[in-house]
Amino acid sequence: MTLNAQPVDLQQIRAHIRDQLSPLVEAIDREGLYPREFMHGLGRLNGFCAVAPVAYGGLGASLANQIEVTALVSETCGSTGFVVWCQAACVWYLTHCPNEAVRARYLPAVARGELLAGTGMSNTVKHLSGIEAIRLKASRDGDGYRIDGTLPWVSNLAENQLIIAAAALDEGGYLMFAAELDPQQVELRACPTFAGLEGTHTFNVRFRDTRVSADQVLAHPEQFATHIQRIKPGFCLSQIGIGAGIVRTSIDSIQRINRSLAHVNCFLDDQHDELVTELDEVLEHTLAQARQADSASTDMLSVLRLRARAAELSLDATRSEALHTGARGYLMNHGAQRRQREALFVAIVTPALKHLRRDIRALEQAC
Ligand SMILES: Cc1cc2nc3c(=O)[nH]c(=O)nc-3n(C[C@H](O)[C@H](O)[C@H](O)COP(=O)(O)OP(=O)(O)OC[C@H]3O[C@@H](n4cnc5c(N)ncnc54)[C@H](O)[C@@H]3O)c2cc1C
Repeated sequence: MTLNAQPVDLQQIRAHIRDQLSPLVEAIDREGLYPREFMHGLGRLNGFCAVAPVAYGGLGASLANQIEVTALVSETCGSTGFVVWCQAACVWYLTHCPNEAVRARYLPAVARGELLAGTGMSNTVKHLSGIEAIRLKASRDGDGYRIDGTLPWVSNLAENQLIIAAAALDEGGYLMFAAELDPQQVELRACPTFAGLEGTHTFNVRFRDTRVSADQVLAHPEQFATHIQRIKPGFCLSQIGIGAGIVRTSIDSIQRINRSLAHVNCFLDDQHDELVTELDEVLEHTLAQARQADSASTDMLSVLRLRARAAELSLDATRSEALHTGARGYLMNHGAQRRQREALFVAIVTPALKHLRRDIRALEQAC
């Protein structure tokens, strides 16, 4: 099943993925290549701007359209699907933030993919769920703030590009801000080698007395809770695009190998038809919830359950593909190997499966 394709031109985007991303997949996975030109090109094809208002160069369309773009990219490369999510998540935050000045300053360039943007929100999202302490601290400085602290892993970053993150204010409350990655103000340090997702330009980010002016603030303390509530459903739902793309390719791979091995593969769990049915269901509900997220009318418990199902399905489908493809799929250059690592990332990136199950249980108990 494909989510509503209008008005993003998916044909053009498919051709861009085939020509500009497919040839790079091995280098992205094995050598940590970041596909920068592909990302800028995707921006020119409206690959990040579905939800941005027309007045800011966007399409004024649905989050469902953005999810489909992320899924298309993830069919070919889950790692690149993740950085597409990072960029599109920043568009989502800026589109729905209450401050016009920051939207005017950054949204057009981020939506067009001219300015690359990373989302350093995992720590805050975990902190707000009571899982860990907040890592960034802020103090007031005129009508802006100064930021200190370190975020261990943030992706889709490069010098002089953008990061969106949140910090705790010393006098109480939180703020969400955008900071330009000027090396004098924000230090990017290399991370240790990851098991996958090496081509995501993921860095350890150090803020040292970093100045954030009023037109870089997405939400001041009095606006913060409402803004997080506004963006969180879309944050979770749009990650489902990464999982959906990976699962689609695993399903296709299972179908291909079954042409010769169905007589023995039929003894495996998570058969082709079961996976198709499960993916169709997840996507159908994602479409419905994404439309509700456009107008801030989602049910958070349903969103969290759906996001958790997508993580579980990613794990099940990629493991099933590995078992179906057997020794062929055990070759390091077979996509089944890469997809298992990419699917695992869908289950550990915030909100991780364990975090989702914790939040789901808390909401169920509150009902
Ligand atoms: C490849 C990659 C890309 C990521 N990109 C982003 C991004 O763009 N934006 C973003 O906000 N987050 C990003 N993250 C972080 C991710 O979303 C999770 O928050 C992170 O993986 C921690 O989740 P956890 O469930 O392991 O934490 P928990 O198991 O709850 O661990 C608690 C905390 O322990 C610390 N910790 C554990 N192991 C280590 C370690 N080896 N080194 C340092 N600290 C450690 C971390 O602070 C972690 O949050 C990325 C992580 C990875 C691996």
